[in-house]
Amino acid sequence: MPCFKCGAVQTDPRKGGPSPWARGVVGDEQILLCPECQAVDPTWTEQLRVCEACGGTRLQIIMGSIVCRACGHDQTVRSD
Ligand SMILES: [Zn+2]
Ligand SMILES: [Zn+2]
Repeated sequence: MPCFKCGAVQTDPRKGGPSPWARGVVGDEQILLCPECQAVDPTWTEQLRVCEACGGTRLQIIMGSIVCRACGHDQTVRSD
């Protein structure tokens, strides 16, 4: 998946290590943001969907649901 803002493609030099790329959900889309874009625009997290339960932004779309990786809250993606 390319960077949400600049379209850069993620390179994956380390297996299993933490990635500097940020993951989140904008609208109903899973997005990735490269480290450069995170540095250029520190307010980028304001665009992210937040968890209805805990307000966290570490959301992941799994099988049509948006699942919070912080608290486990599960909200269904609207398809209308
Ligand atoms: Zn970028
Ligand atoms: Zn949550």
